[in-house]
Amino acid sequence: MIARTLGLARQLAALRRGRAGARPLRLAYGRIFHEACAGSPVPTTRADFERLHALEGDALAAVTTLRGSELAGYLPAAELTGFVQAARLAGVDTVPLASAMAVPGGPLTAACFAWLLDGLLARLDAAGPVDGVYLALHGSMEVEGLDEAPEAVILRRVRERVGPAVAIAVSYDLHANLTAGLLDGVDVMIGYRTNPHWDLAPTGFRAGVRLIRVLRGELAPVHAWRKLPMVLGGGTTIDFLAPMRGVFRYLRQLETRPGVISASLFMVHPFTSAANLGWAVHVSTDGDPALAERLADELAERVWATKDVALPPMLAIDEALDQVRRSRRRTLGPVTLVDVDDIVGAGAPGGNTRFVQALVARGGDLAAYVPVHDPAAVAALWDAPIGSAHRVTLRGTPGYDQPPVELDATVAARHEGDFGRRVRLDVGTLRIAVGDQPPLPIHPKFWRELGLDPRKADLLVTKNFFHYRMFFLTTSFVHLPVESAGATSLRSLRDRRAAVPVHPSTPLADWRAHEPALRAAPRLEAPRATATARGRHAPAP
Ligand SMILES: [Zn+2]
Repeated sequence: MIARTLGLARQLAALRRGRAGARPLRLAYGRIFHEACAGSPVPTTRADFERLHALEGDALAAVTTLRGSELAGYLPAAELTGFVQAARLAGVDTVPLASAMAVPGGPLTAACFAWLLDGLLARLDAAGPVDGVYLALHGSMEVEGLDEAPEAVILRRVRERVGPAVAIAVSYDLHANLTAGLLDGVDVMIGYRTNPHWDLAPTGFRAGVRLIRVLRGELAPVHAWRKLPMVLGGGTTIDFLAPMRGVFRYLRQLETRPGVISASLFMVHPFTSAANLGWAVHVSTDGDPALAERLADELAERVWATKDVALPPMLAIDEALDQVRRSRRRTLGPVTLVDVDDIVGAGAPGGNTRFVQALVARGGDLAAYVPVHDPAAVAALWDAPIGSAHRVTLRGTPGYDQPPVELDATVAARHEGDFGRRVRLDVGTLRIAVGDQPPLPIHPKFWRELGLDPRKADLLVTKNFFHYRMFFLTTSFVHLPVESAGATSLRSLRDRRAAVPVHPSTPLADWRAHEPALRAAPRLEAPRATATARGRHAPAP
């Protein structure tokens, strides 16, 4: 494959050199971005993209300037802004295609994926001749009924449209599950280098610079990659903390070496249904396949050496409530309980009812704020007068298999915003934010909008691993990971089907024995369970 890629890249470079000077380069750019959580019973639809981010043409161009806000309310400058800046500095023309992103959630419906892909391709057809295409993709998307990576389909369809003479650059999230299809026909491939991810704009800039250099005949990329039979998680993969700090430093050093175009690590999103799940490393060099292979091996060894990191201890809900009661720092601010099995930022629906169940039964002494996704409860209570009392059965997300909880609750507040409707239910000292969309209480305003001051709580339940900490820096000083039972359960990862034994579910001393099989494995080992078979559209038990 390397020889083929090399030959092609060299031919292309020569072709392009011959063309240089005729007119400025024209580069098209777009995004289809989503992280799938196979355990969520809520499919991701067109409306989810339209709610968060879906722009094309001039509207996309307007937000990818330095004054625009590319991902409004999330990040003002992301990959496409970085890419456009690289092109601008190089005096290269850009053509906006389409860009769409939704909050992580269940796999996309087939109709949603068709809408996204057809939209991107229609824009590409209308763009006229281009020399290069840049796509910002995730690498852990899923589409109902599709047994390969959707990103591979996107790249194949784009390559069919533009032909072999156009160079393609792609960037992936650090949590991509790298497979051959994600690299096929790609000239430049890079990934984020921070976790949590703040380097979206630099990633697009790096992709743009490399793509332009390829088109100018200055680089002829060849690729080497390794797949590692390991899957870690649970907060052990932060780029600026041990053990990953050294690996990320090494990645940056690699990219400064002569002849190295890029070096990337991909740590997978563990909650997809992929059977070929495993970390991966990728190295691209300028026409030196032997160097790429050697550095990919070295990088793989570095990464493999981090595999035995211990997970932070996870608490049961009642253990966590006891720790809150004992916490001396509680007087400074609320203890945050991170609901690690129902992480909305990783695609879980947020409809876990187990915290409410425990607090109603045994938490009458604690002022607790808990978010729960339960669209039926919101629909039933939305028009109820503030202050009215109700007997409510909280069931959580439909199809999510959570215990129903009977409540005698007072409707205390309601709020409607970008992320749906929320009703505040008060039960004694418990405050429940019941929402018709998966709840993301990343910012204290989530609670303030319901008339609550998070500083006055003893405990807050959150559905996010890291990002919330930025906004709660001066509010909450103790953070406890708590297990419940939901779509992002690390414990359940041990039972997932896998193409080869994966560390640490099966402790492995060496990665090389399983590498070829893992790299060659299809995405799914067995025919994918359909949504209906998994109970998505079946009545709740
Ligand atoms: Zn990620």
